[in-house]
Amino acid sequence: MKTIYLDNAGTTKISERALKAYVETSEEFFGNPSSLHSVGQRAKEILEDAREKIAKCLNAEAREIYFTSGGSESDNQALRSCAEIGKRKGKKHVISTNVEHHAVLHTLEQLKKEGFEIELLPVDGEGLITAEQVKNAIREDTCLVSVMFANNEIGSIMPISEIGAVCREKGVYFHTDAVQAVGHIGIDVKESKIDLLSISAHKFHGPKGIGVLYAKKGIPLTPLIRGGAQENNKRAGTENLPAIVAMQVALQDACGKIGETEKRLKPLRDALVRGLSKIPHSVLNGPREKRLFNNVNFCFEGIEGEGLLLLLNEYGICASSGSACTSGSLDPSHVLLAIGREHEIAHGSLRLSLGEDTTEEDVKTTIEKVGEVVAYLRNMSPVWRDKTNGKQPFIL
Ligand SMILES: *Cc1c(COP(=O)(O)O)cnc(C)c1O
Repeated sequence: MKTIYLDNAGTTKISERALKAYVETSEEFFGNPSSLHSVGQRAKEILEDAREKIAKCLNAEAREIYFTSGGSESDNQALRSCAEIGKRKGKKHVISTNVEHHAVLHTLEQLKKEGFEIELLPVDGEGLITAEQVKNAIREDTCLVSVMFANNEIGSIMPISEIGAVCREKGVYFHTDAVQAVGHIGIDVKESKIDLLSISAHKFHGPKGIGVLYAKKGIPLTPLIRGGAQENNKRAGTENLPAIVAMQVALQDACGKIGETEKRLKPLRDALVRGLSKIPHSVLNGPREKRLFNNVNFCFEGIEGEGLLLLLNEYGICASSGSACTSGSLDPSHVLLAIGREHEIAHGSLRLSLGEDTTEEDVKTTIEKVGEVVAYLRNMSPVWRDKTNGKQPFIL
Protein backbone atom coordinates (compact mmCIF):
# COMPACT_ATOMS: atom_id res chain seq x y z
CA MET A 1 0.00 0.00 0.00
CA LYS A 2 1.28 3.44 -0.91
CA THR A 3 1.69 5.94 1.89
CA ILE A 4 -0.09 9.18 1.08
CA TYR A 5 1.58 11.81 3.22
CA LEU A 6 -0.74 14.77 3.73
CA ASP A 7 0.72 16.22 6.90
CA ASN A 8 3.24 18.64 5.44
CA ALA A 9 2.12 21.39 7.82
CA GLY A 10 3.23 19.05 10.61
CA THR A 11 6.59 18.42 9.05
CA THR A 12 8.07 17.77 5.62
CA LYS A 13 10.52 15.22 4.32
CA ILE A 14 14.02 16.60 3.97
CA SER A 15 14.83 17.18 0.30
CA GLU A 16 17.60 15.25 -1.41
CA ARG A 17 19.57 18.42 -1.99
CA ALA A 18 19.26 19.50 1.65
CA LEU A 19 20.24 16.05 2.86
CA LYS A 20 23.26 16.03 0.56
CA ALA A 21 24.28 19.45 1.86
CA TYR A 22 23.88 18.16 5.42
CA VAL A 23 26.11 15.14 4.82
CA GLU A 24 28.73 17.03 2.83
CA THR A 25 28.96 19.82 5.38
CA SER A 26 29.33 17.25 8.17
CA GLU A 27 32.16 15.58 6.29
CA GLU A 28 34.01 18.55 4.89
CA PHE A 29 33.40 21.33 7.38
CA PHE A 30 33.38 19.68 10.76
CA GLY A 31 35.35 22.47 12.38
CA ASN A 32 34.03 24.69 15.13
CA PRO A 33 33.44 28.12 13.60
CA SER A 34 34.79 29.69 16.80
CA SER A 35 38.18 27.98 16.43
CA LEU A 36 41.04 30.12 15.18
CA HIS A 37 42.75 27.40 13.11
CA SER A 38 42.16 26.79 9.43
CA VAL A 39 39.56 24.03 9.90
CA GLY A 40 37.52 26.27 12.18
CA GLN A 41 37.87 29.25 9.92
CA ARG A 42 36.68 27.27 6.89
CA ALA A 43 33.56 26.36 8.89
CA LYS A 44 33.14 30.01 9.84
CA GLU A 45 33.24 31.02 6.17
CA ILE A 46 30.54 28.46 5.32
CA LEU A 47 28.43 29.67 8.25
CA GLU A 48 28.59 33.31 7.18
CA ASP A 49 27.96 32.39 3.56
CA ALA A 50 24.76 30.57 4.63
CA ARG A 51 23.71 33.57 6.71
CA GLU A 52 24.21 35.85 3.70
CA LYS A 53 22.18 33.60 1.38
CA ILE A 54 19.34 33.16 3.86
CA ALA A 55 19.20 36.93 4.39
CA LYS A 56 18.90 37.43 0.62
CA CYS A 57 15.83 35.16 0.48
CA LEU A 58 14.05 37.49 2.92
CA ASN A 59 15.53 40.77 1.63
CA ALA A 60 17.28 41.15 4.97
CA GLU A 61 20.89 41.79 5.91
CA ALA A 62 23.19 38.99 7.07
CA ARG A 63 23.65 40.55 10.51
CA GLU A 64 19.87 40.46 11.00
CA ILE A 65 19.80 36.64 10.79
CA TYR A 66 20.15 34.62 14.03
CA PHE A 67 20.24 30.83 13.95
CA THR A 68 18.02 29.06 16.49
CA SER A 69 16.75 25.54 17.09
CA GLY A 70 13.53 26.20 15.18
CA GLY A 71 10.22 28.00 15.11
CA SER A 72 9.40 27.59 18.78
CA GLU A 73 12.69 29.04 19.96
CA SER A 74 12.49 31.93 17.49
CA ASP A 75 8.97 32.78 18.68
CA ASN A 76 10.04 32.62 22.32
CA GLN A 77 13.07 34.81 21.77
CA ALA A 78 11.24 37.38 19.65
CA LEU A 79 8.47 37.83 22.22
CA ARG A 80 10.79 37.81 25.24
CA SER A 81 13.14 40.33 23.67
CA CYS A 82 10.40 42.83 22.84
CA ALA A 83 8.82 42.35 26.27
CA GLU A 84 12.20 43.07 27.86
CA ILE A 85 12.63 46.25 25.83
CA GLY A 86 9.06 47.28 26.66
CA LYS A 87 9.53 46.66 30.35
CA ARG A 88 12.53 48.99 30.45
CA LYS A 89 10.35 51.75 28.96
CA GLY A 90 7.34 51.01 31.14
CA LYS A 91 5.42 49.57 28.18
CA LYS A 92 3.75 46.31 29.09
CA HIS A 93 0.89 45.93 26.60
CA VAL A 94 1.24 43.18 23.98
CA ILE A 95 -1.14 42.61 21.07
CA SER A 96 -1.53 39.25 19.32
CA THR A 97 -4.33 37.04 17.99
CA ASN A 98 -6.34 34.13 19.35
CA VAL A 99 -5.20 31.74 16.59
CA GLU A 100 -1.41 31.86 17.10
CA HIS A 101 0.74 28.76 17.43
CA HIS A 102 1.24 27.58 21.02
CA ALA A 103 4.87 28.69 20.87
CA VAL A 104 3.48 32.23 20.83
CA LEU A 105 0.37 31.73 22.98
CA HIS A 106 2.14 29.90 25.79
CA THR A 107 4.96 32.46 25.86
CA LEU A 108 2.34 35.20 26.11
CA GLU A 109 0.65 33.35 28.99
CA GLN A 110 3.99 33.31 30.79
CA LEU A 111 4.52 37.03 30.12
CA LYS A 112 1.08 37.66 31.58
CA LYS A 113 2.17 35.99 34.81
CA GLU A 114 5.15 38.32 34.79
CA GLY A 115 2.92 41.38 34.73
CA PHE A 116 2.34 42.06 31.03
CA GLU A 117 -1.11 42.84 29.68
CA ILE A 118 -1.89 40.53 26.77
CA GLU A 119 -4.60 41.45 24.29
CA LEU A 120 -5.57 38.72 21.82
CA LEU A 121 -7.49 40.13 18.87
CA PRO A 122 -10.39 37.90 17.85
CA VAL A 123 -10.32 36.59 14.28
CA ASP A 124 -13.36 36.54 12.00
CA GLY A 125 -15.12 33.40 10.77
CA GLU A 126 -12.31 32.76 8.27
CA GLY A 127 -9.50 33.11 10.78
CA LEU A 128 -8.40 36.59 9.74
CA ILE A 129 -7.81 39.88 11.52
CA THR A 130 -7.58 43.31 9.90
CA ALA A 131 -4.90 45.99 10.13
CA GLU A 132 -7.69 48.24 11.37
CA GLN A 133 -8.17 46.00 14.43
CA VAL A 134 -4.45 46.28 15.17
CA LYS A 135 -4.51 50.05 14.68
CA ASN A 136 -7.41 50.44 17.10
CA ALA A 137 -5.76 48.23 19.70
CA ILE A 138 -2.36 49.96 19.77
CA ARG A 139 -1.88 52.17 22.85
CA GLU A 140 0.83 54.41 24.25
CA ASP A 141 2.11 51.50 26.31
CA THR A 142 2.05 48.84 23.55
CA CYS A 143 5.50 47.28 23.17
CA LEU A 144 4.78 44.54 20.62
CA VAL A 145 2.36 43.27 18.00
CA SER A 146 2.74 39.59 17.09
CA VAL A 147 0.57 38.22 14.28
CA MET A 148 1.30 34.97 12.45
CA PHE A 149 1.85 35.16 8.68
CA ALA A 150 -0.27 32.11 7.89
CA ASN A 151 -2.16 29.79 10.20
CA ASN A 152 -0.86 26.25 10.62
CA GLU A 153 -4.29 24.69 11.05
CA ILE A 154 -6.62 26.45 8.62
CA GLY A 155 -4.10 28.12 6.30
CA SER A 156 -5.53 31.63 6.59
CA ILE A 157 -3.10 34.30 5.37
CA MET A 158 -3.04 37.47 7.46
CA PRO A 159 -2.67 40.98 5.91
CA ILE A 160 0.95 41.18 7.07
CA SER A 161 2.11 44.16 4.99
CA GLU A 162 -0.86 46.26 6.12
CA ILE A 163 -0.25 45.35 9.76
CA GLY A 164 3.46 46.08 9.30
CA ALA A 165 2.65 49.54 7.97
CA VAL A 166 0.36 50.29 10.93
CA CYS A 167 2.99 49.15 13.45
CA ARG A 168 5.83 51.07 11.79
CA GLU A 169 3.72 54.22 11.72
CA LYS A 170 2.91 53.85 15.43
CA GLY A 171 6.48 52.92 16.34
CA VAL A 172 5.57 49.51 17.77
CA TYR A 173 7.65 46.38 17.17
CA PHE A 174 6.02 43.89 14.80
CA HIS A 175 6.81 40.18 15.00
CA THR A 176 5.37 37.54 12.69
CA ASP A 177 5.54 33.77 13.01
CA ALA A 178 6.17 32.97 9.35
CA VAL A 179 6.84 29.26 9.83
CA GLN A 180 3.94 28.20 7.59
CA ALA A 181 4.45 30.98 5.07
CA VAL A 182 8.01 30.24 3.97
CA GLY A 183 8.01 28.39 0.68
CA HIS A 184 4.38 29.29 0.05
CA ILE A 185 4.49 33.07 0.06
CA GLY A 186 7.35 35.33 -0.99
CA ILE A 187 8.63 37.24 2.03
CA ASP A 188 10.23 40.67 1.91
CA VAL A 189 10.85 41.92 5.45
CA LYS A 190 11.67 45.45 4.28
CA GLU A 191 8.64 45.89 2.06
CA SER A 192 6.30 44.36 4.66
CA LYS A 193 7.93 46.41 7.46
CA ILE A 194 8.52 43.33 9.60
CA ASP A 195 10.77 43.84 12.64
CA LEU A 196 11.07 40.22 13.76
CA LEU A 197 10.21 36.99 11.95
CA SER A 198 10.37 33.29 12.85
CA ILE A 199 11.30 30.48 10.48
CA SER A 200 11.61 26.72 10.88
CA ALA A 201 13.51 24.59 8.34
CA HIS A 202 11.56 21.35 8.73
CA LYS A 203 8.41 22.97 7.34
CA PHE A 204 10.06 23.57 3.94
CA HIS A 205 11.95 20.32 3.35
CA GLY A 206 14.94 21.28 5.49
CA PRO A 207 16.18 19.41 8.56
CA LYS A 208 14.48 19.44 11.96
CA GLY A 209 15.81 21.35 14.92
CA ILE A 210 17.05 24.38 13.04
CA GLY A 211 15.47 27.74 12.35
CA VAL A 212 16.00 31.44 12.03
CA LEU A 213 15.01 34.49 13.97
CA TYR A 214 15.22 37.56 11.79
CA ALA A 215 15.51 40.72 13.88
CA LYS A 216 15.86 44.13 12.23
CA LYS A 217 19.21 45.72 12.98
CA GLY A 218 19.19 47.76 16.16
CA ILE A 219 16.70 45.54 18.00
CA PRO A 220 18.50 44.24 21.09
CA LEU A 221 17.63 40.58 21.46
CA THR A 222 17.57 38.91 24.85
CA PRO A 223 19.48 35.61 24.85
CA LEU A 224 17.45 32.58 25.93
CA ILE A 225 20.57 30.43 26.06
CA ARG A 226 23.69 31.86 27.64
CA GLY A 227 27.25 30.72 27.22
CA GLY A 228 29.64 31.43 24.38
CA ALA A 229 29.63 34.45 22.10
CA GLN A 230 27.96 32.75 19.12
CA GLU A 231 25.28 34.56 17.11
CA ASN A 232 26.58 37.95 18.15
CA ASN A 233 26.14 37.01 21.81
CA LYS A 234 22.42 36.39 21.36
CA ARG A 235 22.35 32.59 21.20
CA ALA A 236 25.10 30.56 22.79
CA GLY A 237 26.17 27.08 21.68
CA THR A 238 28.32 25.70 18.87
CA GLU A 239 26.50 26.33 15.61
CA ASN A 240 24.75 23.37 13.96
CA LEU A 241 26.54 24.00 10.69
CA PRO A 242 25.30 20.95 8.72
CA ALA A 243 21.70 21.83 9.57
CA ILE A 244 22.25 25.52 8.83
CA VAL A 245 23.67 24.80 5.37
CA ALA A 246 20.93 22.26 4.65
CA MET A 247 18.34 24.86 5.71
CA GLN A 248 19.94 27.43 3.43
CA VAL A 249 19.72 25.04 0.47
CA ALA A 250 16.09 24.12 1.26
CA LEU A 251 15.15 27.79 1.67
CA GLN A 252 16.77 28.84 -1.59
CA ASP A 253 15.04 25.96 -3.37
CA ALA A 254 11.65 26.71 -1.81
CA CYS A 255 11.82 30.45 -2.48
CA GLY A 256 13.06 29.90 -6.01
CA LYS A 257 10.03 27.88 -7.06
CA ILE A 258 7.07 29.25 -5.11
CA GLY A 259 5.21 30.12 -8.31
CA GLU A 260 5.81 26.70 -9.78
CA THR A 261 4.74 24.84 -6.61
CA GLU A 262 1.63 26.99 -6.31
CA LYS A 263 0.68 26.33 -9.91
CA ARG A 264 0.85 22.59 -9.32
CA LEU A 265 -0.65 22.33 -5.84
CA LYS A 266 -3.45 24.88 -5.94
CA PRO A 267 -5.60 22.84 -8.36
CA LEU A 268 -5.02 19.76 -6.20
CA ARG A 269 -6.05 21.68 -3.09
CA ASP A 270 -9.16 22.96 -4.83
CA ALA A 271 -10.04 19.45 -6.02
CA LEU A 272 -9.78 18.22 -2.43
CA VAL A 273 -12.01 21.04 -1.21
CA ARG A 274 -14.57 20.33 -3.93
CA GLY A 275 -14.53 16.60 -3.25
CA LEU A 276 -14.80 16.84 0.53
CA SER A 277 -17.51 19.52 0.33
CA LYS A 278 -19.74 16.85 -1.22
CA ILE A 279 -19.72 14.87 2.02
CA PRO A 280 -23.02 15.77 3.77
CA HIS A 281 -22.78 17.88 6.93
CA SER A 282 -19.22 18.96 6.27
CA VAL A 283 -17.77 22.45 6.36
CA LEU A 284 -14.52 23.98 5.13
CA ASN A 285 -12.56 25.72 7.87
CA GLY A 286 -10.69 28.87 6.89
CA PRO A 287 -10.97 31.11 3.86
CA ARG A 288 -11.44 29.86 0.31
CA GLU A 289 -9.07 32.35 -1.29
CA LYS A 290 -6.80 33.93 1.31
CA ARG A 291 -5.36 30.56 2.31
CA LEU A 292 -2.12 28.63 1.83
CA PHE A 293 -2.16 26.75 -1.44
CA ASN A 294 -1.37 23.47 0.29
CA ASN A 295 -3.89 23.62 3.15
CA VAL A 296 -7.28 21.93 3.41
CA ASN A 297 -9.20 21.76 6.69
CA PHE A 298 -12.70 20.37 7.20
CA CYS A 299 -15.07 19.58 10.01
CA PHE A 300 -17.47 16.67 9.71
CA GLU A 301 -20.44 16.66 12.00
CA GLY A 302 -21.00 13.62 14.20
CA ILE A 303 -17.51 12.13 14.23
CA GLU A 304 -14.36 12.30 16.32
CA GLY A 305 -11.21 13.48 14.57
CA GLU A 306 -9.10 10.78 16.21
CA GLY A 307 -11.26 7.96 14.85
CA LEU A 308 -11.08 9.48 11.40
CA LEU A 309 -7.29 9.78 11.55
CA LEU A 310 -6.79 6.21 12.73
CA LEU A 311 -9.00 4.73 10.02
CA LEU A 312 -7.42 6.88 7.29
CA ASN A 313 -4.06 5.67 8.55
CA GLU A 314 -5.24 2.11 7.82
CA TYR A 315 -5.53 3.18 4.19
CA GLY A 316 -2.03 4.65 4.25
CA ILE A 317 -3.30 8.22 4.44
CA CYS A 318 -1.36 10.36 6.93
CA ALA A 319 -3.40 13.36 8.03
CA SER A 320 -3.82 15.49 11.12
CA SER A 321 -6.76 16.78 13.07
CA GLY A 322 -4.86 20.05 13.21
CA SER A 323 -5.73 20.21 16.86
CA ALA A 324 -4.30 19.45 20.26
CA CYS A 325 -6.22 16.13 20.23
CA THR A 326 -3.23 14.56 18.53
CA SER A 327 -0.96 15.54 21.38
CA GLY A 328 -2.93 13.74 24.03
CA SER A 329 -5.29 16.52 25.03
CA LEU A 330 -9.01 16.19 24.43
CA ASP A 331 -9.62 19.92 24.11
CA PRO A 332 -10.79 20.94 20.67
CA SER A 333 -8.52 23.19 18.61
CA HIS A 334 -8.35 26.80 19.83
CA VAL A 335 -8.25 27.88 16.19
CA LEU A 336 -11.53 26.14 15.28
CA LEU A 337 -13.21 27.57 18.37
CA ALA A 338 -11.85 31.02 17.45
CA ILE A 339 -13.53 30.88 14.03
CA GLY A 340 -16.80 30.06 15.73
CA ARG A 341 -17.09 26.28 15.41
CA GLU A 342 -19.14 24.62 18.15
CA HIS A 343 -17.17 22.33 20.48
CA GLU A 344 -19.07 19.35 19.12
CA ILE A 345 -18.15 20.15 15.52
CA ALA A 346 -14.58 21.18 16.27
CA HIS A 347 -13.86 17.64 17.48
CA GLY A 348 -14.49 16.25 14.01
CA SER A 349 -11.76 18.13 12.18
CA LEU A 350 -9.34 16.98 9.51
CA ARG A 351 -6.32 18.85 8.20
CA LEU A 352 -4.76 17.75 4.93
CA SER A 353 -1.58 19.59 3.97
CA LEU A 354 -0.18 18.86 0.52
CA GLY A 355 3.50 18.70 -0.35
CA GLU A 356 6.03 18.48 -3.16
CA ASP A 357 5.19 14.85 -3.89
CA THR A 358 1.36 14.96 -3.71
CA THR A 359 -0.25 13.67 -6.90
CA GLU A 360 -3.69 13.85 -8.51
CA GLU A 361 -4.10 10.17 -7.78
CA ASP A 362 -3.42 10.80 -4.06
CA VAL A 363 -6.14 13.43 -4.03
CA LYS A 364 -8.66 11.12 -5.69
CA THR A 365 -7.92 8.28 -3.27
CA THR A 366 -8.12 10.63 -0.30
CA ILE A 367 -11.52 12.05 -1.27
CA GLU A 368 -12.87 8.54 -1.72
CA LYS A 369 -11.45 7.19 1.54
CA VAL A 370 -12.47 10.18 3.67
CA GLY A 371 -16.02 9.80 2.34
CA GLU A 372 -16.04 6.10 3.19
CA VAL A 373 -14.57 6.53 6.66
CA VAL A 374 -16.88 9.41 7.60
CA ALA A 375 -19.92 7.39 6.53
CA TYR A 376 -18.64 4.35 8.43
CA LEU A 377 -18.06 6.28 11.66
CA ARG A 378 -21.44 7.97 11.43
CA ASN A 379 -23.21 4.65 10.90
CA MET A 380 -21.75 3.36 14.15
CA SER A 381 -22.90 6.37 16.16
CA PRO A 382 -26.23 6.25 18.06
CA VAL A 383 -26.20 10.06 18.24
CA TRP A 384 -25.96 10.20 14.47
CA ARG A 385 -28.86 7.77 14.11
CA ASP A 386 -30.97 10.05 16.30
CA LYS A 387 -30.10 12.93 14.01
CA THR A 388 -30.99 11.09 10.84
CA ASN A 389 -34.27 9.96 12.46
CA GLY A 390 -35.09 13.56 13.28
CA LYS A 391 -34.87 13.00 17.04
CA GLN A 392 -31.95 15.45 17.27
CA PRO A 393 -31.18 18.46 15.07
CA PHE A 394 -28.12 18.68 12.81
CA ILE A 395 -25.74 21.52 13.50
CA LEU A 396 -24.16 21.66 10.06
C1 LIG B 1 5.64 24.18 13.31
C2 LIG B 1 5.34 25.55 13.76
C3 LIG B 1 6.07 26.16 14.80
C4 LIG B 1 7.12 25.43 15.59
O1 LIG B 1 8.28 25.21 14.85
P1 LIG B 1 9.36 24.13 15.40
O2 LIG B 1 10.52 24.32 14.51
O3 LIG B 1 8.72 22.80 15.26
O4 LIG B 1 9.65 24.51 16.81
C5 LIG B 1 5.76 27.46 15.14
N1 LIG B 1 4.79 28.13 14.49
C6 LIG B 1 4.08 27.59 13.50
C7 LIG B 1 3.04 28.41 12.81
C8 LIG B 1 4.32 26.28 13.10
O5 LIG B 1 3.59 25.74 12.13
